[in-house]
Amino acid sequence: MQSKKRYLVTSALPYANGPLHIGHLAGAYLSADVYVRYLRLLGKDVVWVCGSDEHGAAITVKAMKEGLTPREIIDKYDAMFRKAFDGMGIAFDIFHRTSEPIHYQTSQDFFRRLHQNGEFEVIENEQYFDEEKQQFLADRYIIGTCPVCSNPDAYGDQCEKCGSSLSPNDLKPPIRSTLSASNPVKKPTKHWFLKLDKYEGWLRRWITEGELENENDPKIVTKTHNPADWKNHVMGQCKSWLDGGLQPRAMTRDLDWGIPVPPEIDETGSKKLYVWLDAPIGYISATKQWAIDKGQPELWKDYWQKDDTALIHFIGKDNIVFHCLIFPALLREHGDYVLPVNVPANQFMNLEGRKISTSKNWAVWVHEYLEEFEGKQDVLRYNMIKNMPELQDSEFTWKRFQESNNNELVGNLANFINRVLVLTTKNFDGKIPAIADGVTVASSDNAAEKVAPSVELAKLQAGLERLGDFIEKFDFRNALQTLMDISTHGNQFLQFNEPWKTIKTDRNAAAAALNIGMQIVAALAVASQPFLPFTSARLVKMLNIKDLQNGDWASMMEKLRNGEPLITEGSTLGEAEHLFTRIADEVIDAQIKKLEMTDNQTTGGSQQAAVEEVETTPQYAPLADTITYDDFAKMDIRTGTVLTAEKMPKSDKLLKLSIDLGFETRTILSGIAKHFTPEEMVGKQVVVLANLAPRKMMGIESNGMVLMAENAEGKLGLVAPPEGWQNGCVVK
Ligand SMILES: [Zn+2]
Repeated sequence: MQSKKRYLVTSALPYANGPLHIGHLAGAYLSADVYVRYLRLLGKDVVWVCGSDEHGAAITVKAMKEGLTPREIIDKYDAMFRKAFDGMGIAFDIFHRTSEPIHYQTSQDFFRRLHQNGEFEVIENEQYFDEEKQQFLADRYIIGTCPVCSNPDAYGDQCEKCGSSLSPNDLKPPIRSTLSASNPVKKPTKHWFLKLDKYEGWLRRWITEGELENENDPKIVTKTHNPADWKNHVMGQCKSWLDGGLQPRAMTRDLDWGIPVPPEIDETGSKKLYVWLDAPIGYISATKQWAIDKGQPELWKDYWQKDDTALIHFIGKDNIVFHCLIFPALLREHGDYVLPVNVPANQFMNLEGRKISTSKNWAVWVHEYLEEFEGKQDVLRYNMIKNMPELQDSEFTWKRFQESNNNELVGNLANFINRVLVLTTKNFDGKIPAIADGVTVASSDNAAEKVAPSVELAKLQAGLERLGDFIEKFDFRNALQTLMDISTHGNQFLQFNEPWKTIKTDRNAAAAALNIGMQIVAALAVASQPFLPFTSARLVKMLNIKDLQNGDWASMMEKLRNGEPLITEGSTLGEAEHLFTRIADEVIDAQIKKLEMTDNQTTGGSQQAAVEEVETTPQYAPLADTITYDDFAKMDIRTGTVLTAEKMPKSDKLLKLSIDLGFETRTILSGIAKHFTPEEMVGKQVVVLANLAPRKMMGIESNGMVLMAENAEGKLGLVAPPEGWQNGCVVK
């Protein structure tokens, strides 16, 4: 855990040109919500800010499409965001708007300071211009062919097909304006460029080594974060931007809609701030507004300007460059601000085998879910967290949504809680039974072993500690799994102790088992709060425990450490209710049908396009369990060349290969006969796992393994070293 005094958590500002879908939730919001709820349970000082991002060309383009003004568009979607977040229990400390005056002022002041510090360079260059509309065509106002993937409809700022970040001058013909049918022409215009190239040195040292030099005295170095705590894909993207060389980047635009460049700096009065300059500053203005609302207008400074603050940005992977390079550069060059200690970006969530697409309406919309699945917010939250794209893209399917509800939430969690509550109510008059002196219970790990009840409480404590550790590492999937493991353990404990039987033969044994069961339920009531806040609230009410009604992780852990009960004997339970109910096939089928229908509409009734897209979307094998570097280092992998290859008699699978590893020649049997002929293999450069234990097959000893890539259809391809490399090189 960051040993900082206070936390400032931000979630990417959703762009106010469309409603929220599950991909948004899984990216920057649910992850932060789990994290912040946990910090609050620990009693930490935390502020979590977010808001609508309301500038940029995509807003005006959307306004034109819907026949509304930009103001009407942002008001419409801002209202939808608030309702959707609120409905899902996403509990920001403030949800602000970048159209607010305080944000205009904060952004312009920020720009002024950078200008005074000499961080901008004014560059005049040629940009596309729409003569009919008399307007320059930046970002989403211009469409052309993507230089990377040849998508003919790439925008001036990004290709939505391959995700490449672009500038209008990168686009290949045919180049079109999105404003009119006229042919874009090039015209000179001037803009303020941030000298990103100048910051490359300190940015690299800060990100990759977690060290920041004092600007006045480079000998003074501050440790800012542990780079090993950052996710690999985040670090990888940062390094690839840095290695590619940072270029000056325009921080202004020729637009009608946006925050004006301060008038004393822009004499033309026509330039607006680039949306990616003003959007992250939105975190600062949101915090200012939060402080004003609290009646302590200067309080925001503690969170942005004091070194003992941990600033953490939750975002999706498409925003990494802005939050790890550009915004930190702005913050540091401004001079007054702290830098983020971590940017735990998530990857993308796909839907039923395809990328979520707003324009194609291939999405599960949060506002529709809330209407159609009333009272089932936690079911969606559970499924999203379970499949959170923390390290790689993940997928939502309605079938898995149903399965996880029916098997895990109903079958495991609700079942355990319900059994304990019903048995206690029935046999002990709705009061927590006492544990008699010296009584033992069956261990939850082994029915034959008798242990003191305190042993089971210690296991519970260990489980909760593990859960907290996962959350602190932004590993919310494993944290949720640990919560469910506690419930699984509880079910096992009940099964081994059978209080429904012992109540007739040994009342003390039944009482002890149900008391321990109730302690586990009480722990679940608190520990489920970050993930399933609606369930947690209902459970706390059902248990009728005043102490835990506000949720307090620290005091719960303290009690467990001291061997004290979380829910005291003799206290009376509230009224039990069902926490989760099964979701029927018809409900799921209706959702799948709904997706298919919207798909038909957008593809003009033809299913062909959809089918093709599904077929070309590769399916991925699930990622194996994490290993340490030491695990990996045990493998000795070498380059080699196949000298001879022959079919093994009586085997349609095996080829017998002799492979030159430079220092020796090996015989390796490889199960690739269905994929390669012996002739194809001879002379091929390969990669070999060279220290695999020998194995005898069909009378011949195989000494190693040739590495292959396997695609979704089970087809194998050789993994090859760079062409012309010598044999025996170490692969690491
Ligand atoms: Zn592309």
